[in-house]
Amino acid sequence: MPELISVEEAQRVILERARPLDAERVPIERAAGRVLAEPALAATDLPPFPSSAMDGFALRGADTPGTLPLAGEVAAGKPATGPLQPGTAVRISTGGSVPDGADAVVPLEVVQEQEGTLVVPDPVAPGAHVRGRGGDIRAGEVVLESGAQVGPGQVAALAAAGVAEVRCAKRPRVAILVTGSELRPPGEPLGPGEIYESNALLLASALQGAGAVPAQLGVVADDLEEHKRALERALLAFDVVVTSGGASVGPHDLVRKAQRDLRVEELFWGVAVKPGKPVAFGVRRDHLVFNLPGNPVSVLVTFELFVRPALAALQGASNPLPAFERGRLMAPVRPNVHRHEFVRARAFTEGDDLVLEPLGGQESHMIVRAAQANALVSVPPGEAEIPAGSDARFLRLR
Ligand code: AMP
Ligand code: MG
Repeated sequence: MPELISVEEAQRVILERARPLDAERVPIERAAGRVLAEPALAATDLPPFPSSAMDGFALRGADTPGTLPLAGEVAAGKPATGPLQPGTAVRISTGGSVPDGADAVVPLEVVQEQEGTLVVPDPVAPGAHVRGRGGDIRAGEVVLESGAQVGPGQVAALAAAGVAEVRCAKRPRVAILVTGSELRPPGEPLGPGEIYESNALLLASALQGAGAVPAQLGVVADDLEEHKRALERALLAFDVVVTSGGASVGPHDLVRKAQRDLRVEELFWGVAVKPGKPVAFGVRRDHLVFNLPGNPVSVLVTFELFVRPALAALQGASNPLPAFERGRLMAPVRPNVHRHEFVRARAFTEGDDLVLEPLGGQESHMIVRAAQANALVSVPPGEAEIPAGSDARFLRLR
């Protein structure tokens, strides 16, 4: 194996090649989880008319205090038929359209009604309890910038501003290709030397969560021709190919050899990371190829560090790299001398503190142990033990 590159260098190489995919129109009902490829502009002023912030009465501030005849009613969605006559008031509900001529709303609680008149004991300031037209946004202004991630609040903002459709980068189509003659699907009996296949489902679930459209291309046996057939199929039809296994230095590790024959340009192989050292990345034209190791925990970690950022970049995210959080180590950690380690841990809150408890069973095949973790603690290479109570960075597992 050549000299290992750092995690950051590997991410830099990947992001250099992960350019946003072409944009497509997306109805807002399906925009949550996506990233805008261009700014979304308001179709209307919001609110579209001056509206009442309270249940009460619309009037002119200049007519208060005083006793005003009541001249009708405005409900949400049922505006007044004409302007407010000076010296009068109309009943109004929250969200009702404040009639022309009125400049304030007085809440129910501070007035008395007496036989068709309204007694307003105190002065009401002009503008009180009126939500101005366009106070949130004006028609034609930017609701969300290009690169914005759409979630519940954003999709509501688009709807409120009358935007029915947005433009987003296409979802990356990703082929999942797992290699290994020893792999069997769960539910079937295991033969001698066989294990259950788990990376394909891990990847499908992770890809879905990252906004990609995964496709299972099945298990490929450790045979060069089979590898080439499956990889060629994947490279033709998908934006991204993710393989697992067969990328190390053993005689049955055939993925990289098959890719060389298929003219995949390898941009790196070997990262100073633990677990996940034999991870490789290459391209054929604008198709990206990730060769993840076979051990399931290595797949979990290298997906977060290398594949997820690429998918975010393909979808046009303005900040595709993993977002680290900070916590306090509950137990000491001994770093690896050469490799940046991502320690599986349980993150939990204790008062105002975020505590990180490193879990037992840190070997890269121990997926059941890793399944207890909700965090990967970043432990850069080093000599000295990191004492309990130290501040540490971690990635949350989703
Ligand atoms: P490899 O890199 O192909 O030598 O795989 C490394 C280890 O991961 C071996 O113990 C494999 O049996 C195991 N492994 C490879 N692929 C999978 C998979 N899809 N699911 C579970 N374990 C796997
Ligand atoms: Mg293998």
